[in-house]
Amino acid sequence: MEPDGSPQGPDPYPPPRHLPPAQGPLQQPTPQIKHRTVAAVFFFFGVLGLVCAGAYFGGDLQPLWGSDVPQSQSPRPGVLPFGQREDPVPGREEADAPLGTPAPLQRSSTAYKFLALKTDGTPVAYSPCRPIHYVVNSTLAPASWQSLVEEAVRQASLATGLHFIYDGPTSEQPTSNRAGYQPEMYGDRWAPVLIAWTTPEQVPRLTGQTVGLGGSSSIGLSNGYKAYVTGTVSLDAPQFAGIMGSSQGREIGVGVIMHELGHVLGLDHVDDPRQLMYDQASWVRQYAAGDLTGLAKLGSGPCSKDF
Ligand SMILES: [Zn+2]
Repeated sequence: MEPDGSPQGPDPYPPPRHLPPAQGPLQQPTPQIKHRTVAAVFFFFGVLGLVCAGAYFGGDLQPLWGSDVPQSQSPRPGVLPFGQREDPVPGREEADAPLGTPAPLQRSSTAYKFLALKTDGTPVAYSPCRPIHYVVNSTLAPASWQSLVEEAVRQASLATGLHFIYDGPTSEQPTSNRAGYQPEMYGDRWAPVLIAWTTPEQVPRLTGQTVGLGGSSSIGLSNGYKAYVTGTVSLDAPQFAGIMGSSQGREIGVGVIMHELGHVLGLDHVDDPRQLMYDQASWVRQYAAGDLTGLAKLGSGPCSKDF
């Protein structure tokens, strides 16, 4: 990914640091419940590769629920009074079938990599049966932020078939331990994906030449189901402003957001410079064959009403 538009010179960005994402359950399973595939037994906030343009950061986000927080004590999260749960009522907006399908591939490619795989070898992904809500903190964004985000989201949606819904502005700032359930701010549901223009002071991992970070948080259910539930795109506002001031600034800006959304949806970096998920500066501005092949798979994950 290119943090800036400077076409000259060798890649100015440091090689990515690949840190293994946080793995494994952070909670002890609570007693099984009679509810069929019930879920909430063994939640954990897997992954989170907060990843970036130019550097990969794994395991950044903290568990949705602190490891010392007894969680999902109730067999059925949905029957606990609002305010006493650590997770939203399951199944919200989950349809019986995927809401969309990935755009047909012009050609497939193996130049993609997933951030996290399940035990069956398939990638951790969002449920295609429910929309991905997102909010934007645009306080430090360029004036044209809305069209940039809309275009990047449109491309991500086309590639995956996943549906996105813009829920409006937010004052939320990205943090390294963002909670996936924030009922006070977002109501009784998983927190929407946060897209935020911010600063290295707020998000230290943006320090240096990293222009963006992107990643999602997953939930694991007792029946083996695992899916992302929310994510974050953090954009370095000062660097982004520089991008927008360069030639082709808009295209590069959209490309940066698309790259970070690629991480949010589950794509890791690849070594192929022809892909948008390449981890170094390049001329690529759009999802390429490998990116699109991976995104199509990420848009074809399983559904579940249990989370
Ligand atoms: Zn990246």
